[in-house]
Amino acid sequence: MTLQKSWVASANSAESPFPLNNLPYGVFSVGEEDPRCGVAIGDMIFDMAQAEAAGLVDMDVGALFDVPFWNEVMEEGPALWAALRARITAILAEGSPDQAAAQSLLYPQAGAELYMPFLVSEYTDFYAGRQHAENMGAILRGGPELPANWLHIPIGYNGRASSVVVSGTPIRRPLGQMKAPDAAMPSFGPCKRLDIELEMGAIVGTGCDIGAPISTTKADEMIFGYVLLNDWSARDIQGWEYQPLGPFQGKAFGTSVSPWIVTKEALEPFRTSVPPRDKELLPYLAETKPGLYDIELEVLMQPEGSDTVTELTKTNYSRMYYSAAQQLTHHAVGGCGMTPGDLLGSGTISGPTKTEYGSLMEMGWAGKEPFTLNSGEQRSWLEDGDTMTLRGNARGDGFTIGFGDCVGKILPALDDPFTS
Ligand code: CA
Repeated sequence: MTLQKSWVASANSAESPFPLNNLPYGVFSVGEEDPRCGVAIGDMIFDMAQAEAAGLVDMDVGALFDVPFWNEVMEEGPALWAALRARITAILAEGSPDQAAAQSLLYPQAGAELYMPFLVSEYTDFYAGRQHAENMGAILRGGPELPANWLHIPIGYNGRASSVVVSGTPIRRPLGQMKAPDAAMPSFGPCKRLDIELEMGAIVGTGCDIGAPISTTKADEMIFGYVLLNDWSARDIQGWEYQPLGPFQGKAFGTSVSPWIVTKEALEPFRTSVPPRDKELLPYLAETKPGLYDIELEVLMQPEGSDTVTELTKTNYSRMYYSAAQQLTHHAVGGCGMTPGDLLGSGTISGPTKTEYGSLMEMGWAGKEPFTLNSGEQRSWLEDGDTMTLRGNARGDGFTIGFGDCVGKILPALDDPFTS
């Protein structure tokens, strides 16, 4: 596939993250207007609510876009998703008869505010990055051995939908309980080992009933699109609380997602298979279709007051061991119902070398090997005022499918309200 041309000139460059090939879905407002659905094209946003009101877009199911979320579109299912994408493509394509009518429905992205693009119904975070799992094993248990279940199960834990925020939302350093290995008693206070996790988020578009197992083929059909996801992590809180039930407060204070839902259809040319299996998977997890995507991922860090940005990581989503469809199938197979707006975190994405690691825990080897930023500062963990940016791009022949940055800045912890 090559670049599809639009009459929106800024969309026709190989470097634009939002060419006609992409058309990601977001929620925006301009000035005092109410937030509503929009589609990114070049450096503009196409106003879907106004397009619907003007009769340019009519999906024959009632109003869908004059709301601050895409869940109503998701619920309509894959046939409507395809028809909608075809209609928006026709409106914005070079030579479209709708150009004159659509021209006034464009707003510059630079002047718009972006919001969560969907209502998160539930949030589950997986652990499907093999290099990350091996690194964590080496750091925490002294060897790169994977947990006994890891090559057989896409393991995960149930997170909190209420913790998910859109890019740009500041992240407050959490307070919590922690205990150093040599301390006699636990203590309460601000997290000192604040971290990121570079992940992708898959958004479930259509649900399935409780007690209704689904195949990986069906699971793939149910996925509406993908976002970048930063699973902010408090390693000292996590380290004390996690046995035996897994992450809890150490993961519940903030999970950032990028503001545009990149549809599965836009990513179709970039499908790639899961890596070779060490152990054959049980039949219910077999994939009939390549379930991962070739998406280049980067992590950038900028300390407060510094003009210097440091690129910490470059890796790729195709490094995961399990696809989102396999994770969704495993989730539902035991009887768990899934709902539109369910968010599935991939797990931390790390490549084989230090410049490909998806968390500071790995980059600084749990504080033992601090790393140096371009500004000269050293880091093992996040400091107050640090801004972290995740970036994702799938690169085609003369075009790019971008996600829009996933950004978060660390605010200092609140004063401990329990001591004077
Ligand atoms: Ca995670």
